[in-house]
Amino acid sequence: MPFRSRYTGLIDTYRDRLPVHDDTRIISLGEGNTPLIRLNNIPGFLEAEIDIYVKFEGLNPTGSFKDRGMTMAVTKAVEEGSEAIICASTGNTSASAAAYAARAGIKAFVLIPDGKIALGKLAQAMMHGATVIQIKGNFDVGMQLVKDITGHAPVTIVNSINPYRLQGQKTAAFEILEELGCAPDYHCIPVGNAGNITAHWMGYKEYNEHGIVNSLPVMVGYQASGSAPFMRGAMVDAPETVATAIRIGHPQSWDKAWATQKESKGWFDECSDQEILAAQKMLADREGVFCEPASAASLAGMIKDVKSGKIPAGSKIVCTLTGNGIKDPDTAIKQCRAPLQSVEATLDAVKRAILDNI
Ligand SMILES: *Cc1c(COP(=O)(O)O)cnc(C)c1O
Repeated sequence: MPFRSRYTGLIDTYRDRLPVHDDTRIISLGEGNTPLIRLNNIPGFLEAEIDIYVKFEGLNPTGSFKDRGMTMAVTKAVEEGSEAIICASTGNTSASAAAYAARAGIKAFVLIPDGKIALGKLAQAMMHGATVIQIKGNFDVGMQLVKDITGHAPVTIVNSINPYRLQGQKTAAFEILEELGCAPDYHCIPVGNAGNITAHWMGYKEYNEHGIVNSLPVMVGYQASGSAPFMRGAMVDAPETVATAIRIGHPQSWDKAWATQKESKGWFDECSDQEILAAQKMLADREGVFCEPASAASLAGMIKDVKSGKIPAGSKIVCTLTGNGIKDPDTAIKQCRAPLQSVEATLDAVKRAILDNI
């Protein structure tokens, strides 16, 4: 039986489209190549003639799309002789930075906001041996501190202001184009710092510029209402949302994201926390896909735009699911209405529990 060639990560796969050399030592955990899952049940429930795919980035090695950017950022940091990386993070960047630093054998310093990070993400950063610095302030404050510290310590920033991050992340668009054979009509994506929406647009444009495909999507970015600077048209100083991964009031890719919106003829919109959690539950309930709250903003927003007709019938839609739901079990368990039931360990009791619920 012939063996399939082993998948060795996105840098190997897209070497000629990424800034690496033949002798670059690649720091990889096999990221990328995530499934594009066609939704079977939700379109019917919406009573809409639409074709929805979710790109489940939660199946990357550390459970979020951040790994796409981190493999590039850490590879280049090591190539340039750096022995330590640093980031501010709402959780997933720190988990990813910690893992890739461990893989590379360098140090990671991560600044996280006090108490506003999902437990799974904190566990990851700690397990991978990062120095976790919890600050008494939010992500935006941490981000400014990280920018300020680089003049004072020999550390490489691996937030998405590091241009290699977006280079790695653009490969998600390549994968979608290769799988669908063309761009979706609409690409719906959660927006925090707005690096990912920018990176996807870069990827889509690159394949068009090289004549590999001849179609571009409309890019639609969704924010949580409590932290929606793109909707307010200005920075938000005290962002609040249950979707902690997008609890960001001062997006680092502000100008690039506005350019993406204009060039792709797309738009930004916002979702309430309630809408986000309902979409997260619906996706888990009806399709078997468990994403984290921030990721569900893409689905929640898309549903509203389909219902209002802003996304018309007949559309092909891709929603990016940025991270894995098991990172934030507290938020998940809190919104499950069916209580955890405890019964006697007898055949009778178990039988009753089944027959009552069938
Ligand atoms: C980082 C992150 C986002 C936001 O991505 P940006 O590039 O900052 O806009 C959304 N969802 C999850 C799960 C994330 O980890």
